[in-house]
Amino acid sequence: MPELRPEIAAMPGYHSPQVDVPIRLNTNESPFPPPEAFVSEFTEAIQDVSWNRYPDRTASRLRDRLAVYHGVQPEQLFVANGSNEVLQTILLAYAGPGRRVVVFEPGYQMHVQIARILGSEVIVIERNEDFTLDGAHVREVLREVQPHLVFLSSPNNPTGQCDDESMIDIIGEATDAMLVVDEAYAEFSSWSAIDRALHSDRIVVSRTFSKTWSLAALRLGYLIGSSDVIGHLWTAVLPYHLDSVKQIAGELALKFTDDMNERVSLIVSERERVQTALIELDVDVSPSSANFVLFKTRRDADFMWSALLDHGVLVRNCSSWPRLEGWLRLTIGTEDENNAFLAGLQSALEKE
Ligand SMILES: *Cc1c(COP(=O)(O)O)cnc(C)c1O
Repeated sequence: MPELRPEIAAMPGYHSPQVDVPIRLNTNESPFPPPEAFVSEFTEAIQDVSWNRYPDRTASRLRDRLAVYHGVQPEQLFVANGSNEVLQTILLAYAGPGRRVVVFEPGYQMHVQIARILGSEVIVIERNEDFTLDGAHVREVLREVQPHLVFLSSPNNPTGQCDDESMIDIIGEATDAMLVVDEAYAEFSSWSAIDRALHSDRIVVSRTFSKTWSLAALRLGYLIGSSDVIGHLWTAVLPYHLDSVKQIAGELALKFTDDMNERVSLIVSERERVQTALIELDVDVSPSSANFVLFKTRRDADFMWSALLDHGVLVRNCSSWPRLEGWLRLTIGTEDENNAFLAGLQSALEKE
């Protein structure tokens, strides 16, 4: 066999066990399907696809719709197959061999993985015990490292927390790097860096249809930034990367903004209810601004994960991840699913 690239050989790969259980609260998907009207309009619309032709290479109609939704110009938008491909494209353009990428941990592992696969050097800045960032420390490390690209997830996965907005200024003052603000969960939280991204060619914001829009199966994400930066991304990405069917689905989804907002408020109120219940059960909770909650019980994490599985509830066991010993992550589900989780947790806590 030919020799594998060392970057790939060193990779553990992405592992989120897909176990067949009734209640799956492990990958931060929406518990609700998209509106029925979306599905029927979509089925109708794909009858008109010109199957023998390549798709619109720059997804102009989808970008026009997204531009209206965000109050930006279509030239300030890049779209791709999930925000993971968006992030890969920005790394293709601004990172790679001989370039340095900074991440904050605990954080989203795909940032590290894609950066390394592309041959970039990854530098980790540790978060505090309570998962916040120490501004002075961040400033010091960034000045020393002089990275080419910095990832900041807001809200952060897996901690669910939002960093203070001032962190954007701290990062911007300490380095000339491209700051990628990963806002996969922004709709569940209170601030966004979009305004800043529109006024800077060193800040971009990535978003996704996977979490808020009940469309994880679709694989559609996008990036907002200055038109110059966006232009470079169109150069770096493969031609015709976004198929016609996906472009149609994205356009149609944006017609259902009210349904989406309603789902977001439902999840936010369930999140608050679950967090309160967890605190009453004496469970440690990382305060969440997303659609999931990171928590730690007094019982061993592997025991708790299996006990919940016995109750038909699958959560994410983060305990083997660096700095997360004892922690589990629950995706907020429907009211019934969350109740099943809480009942399972309570009985596991009482078990000898
Ligand atoms: C889920 C997630 C993504 C991935 O989104 P896709 O659009 O499904 O690729 C990106 N960033 C963070 C922080 C996530 O948690």
